[in-house]
Amino acid sequence: MVTRIVFSEADMRARSFVKDLCTDAGLAIREDAIGNTFARWEGSDPALAPIGTGSHVDAIPNAGMYDGCVGVLGGLEAIRVLKQMGFQPRRSIELVIFTAEEPTRFGIGCLGSRMMSGALSPAQASALRDKDGWGLDDLRADAGFTGSLDSVALRPGRFHQFVELHIEQGPLLEEQGIDLGLVTHIAAPASLRIVIEGEGGHAGGKLMPGRKDALVAAAELILALEAAAKSTGAVDTVGTVGVCEVFPGAVNSIPSRVRLEADIRDIDRARRDCVIDALKTACYDSATQRGVEIKTEVVNADPPAACDAAILAAMEEAAKSAGKTYKKMVSRAYHDTLFMARVASVAMLFIPCRGGVSHRPDEYASPEWIGGGVRVLASTLAALSA
Ligand SMILES: [Zn+2]
Repeated sequence: MVTRIVFSEADMRARSFVKDLCTDAGLAIREDAIGNTFARWEGSDPALAPIGTGSHVDAIPNAGMYDGCVGVLGGLEAIRVLKQMGFQPRRSIELVIFTAEEPTRFGIGCLGSRMMSGALSPAQASALRDKDGWGLDDLRADAGFTGSLDSVALRPGRFHQFVELHIEQGPLLEEQGIDLGLVTHIAAPASLRIVIEGEGGHAGGKLMPGRKDALVAAAELILALEAAAKSTGAVDTVGTVGVCEVFPGAVNSIPSRVRLEADIRDIDRARRDCVIDALKTACYDSATQRGVEIKTEVVNADPPAACDAAILAAMEEAAKSAGKTYKKMVSRAYHDTLFMARVASVAMLFIPCRGGVSHRPDEYASPEWIGGGVRVLASTLAALSA
């Protein structure tokens, strides 16, 4: 079981462990102002933009050992294998360890890559607080990461291509007995907060005509989201209401206020945004018809990413020559690569994980699965950097 919250003692120990391994492998280490770490193997033409690989070492409470770490340690191992084989890259290869992929501490996922891509501004980042009220700036300074947050964003072209090795976090590869998933698209979530203000009252005393029941309106919205997500006809469109808080929450009291949180994902931004629009229309209709007040707030709506054909072709070639079976697939969870896609060409390589289980202590990927992924990653990095 692993708990490794960003900037905690466990996170700092993991960082220094990985940095020591990188130093031993002859890589040059640089850290930015929030602790994103770059371990560089200099290519024969250092002026060329490097090929990146990597992932994260932070982990949610009671997590497993493989989410993120497979991409960091696997990326390092791929570099070590290439070095042992006497390979000399033309483009430099950089292993990236992203700060705070998990949203545990600051409530926002992919903090490091979000800032690297410019999707989160330094001002927005400075305003982040953890549940104890500590700000990002206090915590990063304590961890030894100083310097201006302005310096975290990467200039476009800083990386030529980026590829992340990761466990699938779903059951498909294992169920189908396939060694590798070549990720063609990364779905992106949009999340909405919806607050419905109705009118409370005694469940017996207030008769049905003229009621403004906030929960009945919420029920309509939940059904409207389901219908909108299904109406696209695409398997990749999904809509979920995972939070429903009812006030005052008593059996004999008409709900006066309901707070919903909805998560809508797709690999196609326009299609996803249509579902968001349909939900907003349902809010308007329900408010009008029921006389309740409905406020919606889009908390985030990150664009999905399409993976780079050249990286996919290199991975396919590498899988074939390693004798590994593979399939092209969509990543339904999002990863640091989603943000790297804003500043570089990207792709991801998935390996199976037992039972599709992730974010749990019994998360597991076999040495054979990891080894296969590392081998194909190494060949891919060799092809891309040559
Ligand atoms: Zn991860």
